[in-house]
Amino acid sequence: MKKVLPVLALGPIMAISLQAAENKDFNYHVDRFADIEVLRYEVPGFNELSLNQKKMLYYLSQAAQAGRDIIWDQNCRYNLQLRHLLEQIYTGFSGDRNSADWKAFDRYMKQVWFGNGIHHHYSNDKFIPEFSPEFFDAQVALIPDSALPLSDGQDRTSFMEIMKKVVFDPSFMAKKVNQDGSQDVIATSATNLYGPGVTQKEVEDYYAAIKDPNDTTPVSYGLNSRIAKGDDGRIHEEVYHLNGLYGPAIAKIIYWLDMAKSVAENDAQRDYITKLIDFYITGDLRTFDEYSILWAEDTKSDIDFVNGFIESYGDPLGMTASWEAYVNFKNPEASARTEAISGNAQWFEDNSPINPAFRKPEVKGVSAKVITASYLGGDAFPSTAIGINLPNANWIRAAHGSKSVTLENITEAYAMASIGNGFNEEFVIDAPTSKLLDDWLYITDMLHTALHKCLGHASGRLNPGVDPDALKENGATLEEARADLFALYYLPDAKLQEIGVLDNPEAYKAEYYKYMLNGLMTQLNRIELGKDVEEAHMRNRQLIAKWILEHGKKDKVVELVKKNGKTYVKINDYKKMRDLVGQLLAEIQRIKSEGDYKAGNELVQKYAVKVDQKLHKEVLDRYATLDIPPYRGFVNPVYHTVTNPNGEIIDVTLDYTESYPDQMLRLSRENSNL
Ligand code: ZN
Repeated sequence: MKKVLPVLALGPIMAISLQAAENKDFNYHVDRFADIEVLRYEVPGFNELSLNQKKMLYYLSQAAQAGRDIIWDQNCRYNLQLRHLLEQIYTGFSGDRNSADWKAFDRYMKQVWFGNGIHHHYSNDKFIPEFSPEFFDAQVALIPDSALPLSDGQDRTSFMEIMKKVVFDPSFMAKKVNQDGSQDVIATSATNLYGPGVTQKEVEDYYAAIKDPNDTTPVSYGLNSRIAKGDDGRIHEEVYHLNGLYGPAIAKIIYWLDMAKSVAENDAQRDYITKLIDFYITGDLRTFDEYSILWAEDTKSDIDFVNGFIESYGDPLGMTASWEAYVNFKNPEASARTEAISGNAQWFEDNSPINPAFRKPEVKGVSAKVITASYLGGDAFPSTAIGINLPNANWIRAAHGSKSVTLENITEAYAMASIGNGFNEEFVIDAPTSKLLDDWLYITDMLHTALHKCLGHASGRLNPGVDPDALKENGATLEEARADLFALYYLPDAKLQEIGVLDNPEAYKAEYYKYMLNGLMTQLNRIELGKDVEEAHMRNRQLIAKWILEHGKKDKVVELVKKNGKTYVKINDYKKMRDLVGQLLAEIQRIKSEGDYKAGNELVQKYAVKVDQKLHKEVLDRYATLDIPPYRGFVNPVYHTVTNPNGEIIDVTLDYTESYPDQMLRLSRENSNL
């Protein structure tokens, strides 16, 4: 529950973002289709690394792509078969590339690649193709039986019957993750984290029977397993490990992790890689916790990575984790900023506007660094987070601390790719506010992210005996709200000038304005008209913005005003807005500390979910006049090894020229491990 997603569509960004770019002519734009733009990111500093560090990053990049098929299969059990089929059509097509059917097929193929399957990575809705079933049939007819990706017992007819449902039937596997608590969230979700016929009640009963409520160091039950129903109708766990589910992909991951271990920077790093390999071999969750502790405690190494089953957003019950990978190395200059923040963690905790009983007497191990991403994989690719805060297990965080990182080169790529997109002119109320954003949004956004991750998630404590999962399906939304509010509360604080991370005491207004604009209006661009807000981070942002709008109404703290028939956010009193931020933080902390499900659910239902249809339509219409893609993601740089006549690696170089389809097809060729 700790990843930070990019807030959408920043306006033109001030020059600070330019300073870090090695190459000012770097082309960030790669591809554009449907509601997606694919960017590339630069890896500044790579060429200055030592040979061993470059080799390690190369090996880790291989480990990060070796598990690609896992996330495809986790997302839906038909994804891999369909991908093989679609890619055969895509690469073998010899018809008219200007035809409407081909263009629609090309778009669908790119969407499926981006979603790691048939569902949208963000909305979780199934993609609806615009090519005809006849076109699809005709293309498949050209593929010989021997080349069809049939599963055991399938023939062409039965294969095509199911594939056509998968592609064309909008009601079949309609939603990857359904979080509507009024329904059986497992039976109505297409995710393959649960087998066919498994119900929510069966899963809940299964875990209730094996969970020990008195265990103070509980493993993350279900983190690395699929719950399936046997022929006898009984529920069982299929664990992801070397000799279990996803074994062939895991074997490749282990091979590359072992190579990385051979060039590790130090013993601490070698130890946690060894432990991670042990975990992949056995699937034992106690070993995973041991690995997580070793990983959290290694704050010395420059190179770092995540490779495994980490985040559980893809599970309607929030238990089983999607496979993901991040490879990165430290950005020393930018890290000084977050170190100043985390170095003062106790001061922030002691001064936070919450009930003192809910404060942590001792804030432990908040480490923070700014990193340069060098490879993204699994669920972190092509769409990625801009920050990571791990491990997730509460007891490990409390006893051993956590690592919190910001992916600065990714944030920078977003900002650079947004320059001149017309967003400010359309949505920001006036020229002075636009200027405020141009001048201060980039740095305050960075600080917001740092405060959210280094301090926000780490702050506060539960009352004794309160179940960390007490807020149930609202847990993620409220936790993100808590961290965001913590960050918003401190942005205007003079402490930031005192510790030297922000020189202008008025700069916070840029982030405040953007936060309200995004939460009340512009993030609606990511939702189809008529739908509710579903995703936890979006719910959190709307919850905060709407709550402040309503509670500041009397004093006109924030208003929605009309100018020339268009709606604008107007902030009249930034200081009072901060007071409201503090009040809501206190209440959400209380809800979390006391495990007050009812109050949490009321907040979410009242502010976070429902959308004003008229305003929603207006936002969509205004966005449509701009050329801003609602979602963005990345291709990775291509790693090339330079070898001597003995085959030893003597250098590693990065190539930024690969196209989006070429990269996706190459990944499928090199990593079809399942
Ligand atoms: Zn967060």
